[in-house]
Amino acid sequence: MLGKTHAAVGAAAALYVVYPDTIEGVVFTAAAGIAGGLLCDIDSPKTAIHQKAILLLTGVIAVIAIAFLNGKTAGDIAQAGAWLISKSADPRAFYGAILLLLCIVAAFTKHRTFSHSIVFALSVWFLMSRAFEPAAVPLTAGVVSHIVLDLLNEHGIQLFWPFSSKLRFKLCSSKGAVNSFLFYLGIGASFLLAAESLGVFTRAQLF
Ligand SMILES: [Zn+2]
Repeated sequence: MLGKTHAAVGAAAALYVVYPDTIEGVVFTAAAGIAGGLLCDIDSPKTAIHQKAILLLTGVIAVIAIAFLNGKTAGDIAQAGAWLISKSADPRAFYGAILLLLCIVAAFTKHRTFSHSIVFALSVWFLMSRAFEPAAVPLTAGVVSHIVLDLLNEHGIQLFWPFSSKLRFKLCSSKGAVNSFLFYLGIGASFLLAAESLGVFTRAQLF
């Protein structure tokens, strides 16, 4: 599927699960759903999110290199790192750092493997629920929607990673008519769910 399809369906999935009742809630939920919908493809070098992960890693390496150049030892750097992720700091920062690390690791795995698995979806939910609880459910809904959409794809995904068997339903290709249909379905469903959440109409009026 194309990124825009994953974004649209991710937003719809998050709005359906969370059912926010304020305009801020709708925007936040849709944004978290879009982020989740795009996150899984961090393992594809073609995506912007993959390039951001590489940039982030380059930044971390640059900070370590500068510390070395300033006479810090490996022990100093390890100590600073340990402090950053220690429980003595805000525990939310600890879980946020682990989530970021998980995403960087995912960026270096083979496409449609680790970041398209149940293990990844559960890890994202667990870490985000401790780092920033309000985003956990909509973000995970976006991730799950991505995994479900890619299951329809002819390439298949390693849903049960670390097991290597690939699951696929071969219903469509990454582009093409089914992809376009799902994109418009996602956009339409997002607007309907947002309008329903805000009380513009009720589900009973629609059907
Ligand atoms: Zn994917």
